[in-house]
Amino acid sequence: MSEKKNIIVIGGGIIGSCSAYFLSRHPKFNPSTHCITLLEATKIAGGASGKAGGLLALWAYPSSIVPLSYRLHKELAEEHGGAENWGYRGVHCGQIDAKARPLGGPSVKGVRDRPTDEKDGGPISVSLKKRSKDAMALLRSKGVPADLDWVDGSSVSGYEEMGTPATTAQVHPYLFTTSMAWLAEEKGVKIIYGAVTSINTGTDGVESVSYTTKEDDTSQILQASQVVLSAGPWTQTIWPEAPISALRAHSVTIRPSHPVSPYCLFTGIKLPKDFYNRSGSTNRSNKGTSQLVTPEIYARPNNEVYACGEGDELIPLPKTSDLVEVDQQRCQDIVDYVSSISDELRDGEVTARQACYLPNVDTGGGPLIGETSVKGLVIATGHTCWGIQNGPGTGKLVSEIVFDGAVTSANIKGLDPRKHGL
Ligand SMILES: Cc1cc2nc3c(=O)[nH]c(=O)nc-3n(C[C@H](O)[C@H](O)[C@H](O)COP(=O)(O)OP(=O)(O)OC[C@H]3O[C@@H](n4cnc5c(N)ncnc54)[C@H](O)[C@@H]3O)c2cc1C
Repeated sequence: MSEKKNIIVIGGGIIGSCSAYFLSRHPKFNPSTHCITLLEATKIAGGASGKAGGLLALWAYPSSIVPLSYRLHKELAEEHGGAENWGYRGVHCGQIDAKARPLGGPSVKGVRDRPTDEKDGGPISVSLKKRSKDAMALLRSKGVPADLDWVDGSSVSGYEEMGTPATTAQVHPYLFTTSMAWLAEEKGVKIIYGAVTSINTGTDGVESVSYTTKEDDTSQILQASQVVLSAGPWTQTIWPEAPISALRAHSVTIRPSHPVSPYCLFTGIKLPKDFYNRSGSTNRSNKGTSQLVTPEIYARPNNEVYACGEGDELIPLPKTSDLVEVDQQRCQDIVDYVSSISDELRDGEVTARQACYLPNVDTGGGPLIGETSVKGLVIATGHTCWGIQNGPGTGKLVSEIVFDGAVTSANIKGLDPRKHGL
């Protein structure tokens, strides 16, 4: 007979959803004696886990969990049809250095959300459609691979390979995270929508979790023998000692004017002095100096390109993921930057402008995965910019901690939350 357990996972981002998935697949999980509940305040994958890029890489960090998690992504995709269901595929990855081209004057601004043509009286598309021999030769001369034909040769100054499909892959993070949560639910995990207000402890460790329901804001208490705290950037609002802070970042998705090859690009784009004036952003200025911007651009299957910009600390983390403020100008900047080096993106359609917060560890390093000094409280958070890559590995390790009392799949001594005072 297995011991009775009430396991509560807090947070339905990728970390909580993968934890729920692997708990429900653990050989010791017995639905007749074990009750697993996933408590999510707002929406599964409503935060960074639904708005991230989705890059997976063997060269990510920390090295203690990356190989495990990268392998698990592959296995999950094989087992559950990840290629069709969440866009899992190997990709090329490179660093591209470029100089921004002017975007073609003020008339372009504001119409890129809606592709126009001469009949609309809008700007005429000047996309090259297919690169000419000369344009391709120019790209080759800069070291750009032959099939990366959707960047402009005249603006690129250099290309360096960072990963190949053998070492680098991608998923659509929203589709992946929600799939993990539904697959966990299929095996008996109960998903409750409610915001945790406290984890209640006694002399023998965790005892229960208090939360308010999303539906009617009533207060509820759930008895708990083990709690997995995986609320990402919101971790500190539930457990104030946790050294986790939140950094906002904006991103956009674009349907390119023509299908683009599978590349994920880290960029360094030099903006000329008058870039903002010429792009029509009259309220912006780079103060007469050139400026380097570094958007990341990820081609996705199904004719979508994701691009994100740098972080900002202008607006503190709101109470819930649906209250995150989106700065439209920051989104437009990302659109302008990526449009300045690619006709396919410039002439495409912007399909989403969004923002989210990534969880950082104030004391350095991260993520924090493991038991704490409070019996029954497991922490899995602070995944910084590699939470999508490291989600499955984290979930697997959490399931081992909860059911076996120790991890066997990786050596994560360096990620011990107790080293951070927890
Ligand atoms: C712009 C951007 C691009 C990124 N790109 C990549 C990438 O390409 N590859 C990669 O590996 N990583 C990437 N990341 C990082 C990745 O998105 C994060 O590390 C990861 O999503 C964190 O997951 P999480 O589950 O810890 O947090 P979250 O996704 O924030 O989930 C936390 C959940 O907890 C819930 N919650 C909050 N408070 C409560 C409460 N009181 N009660 C119950 N539930 C609560 C929230 O509603 C939320 O659903 C990127 C991040 C950003 C910002």
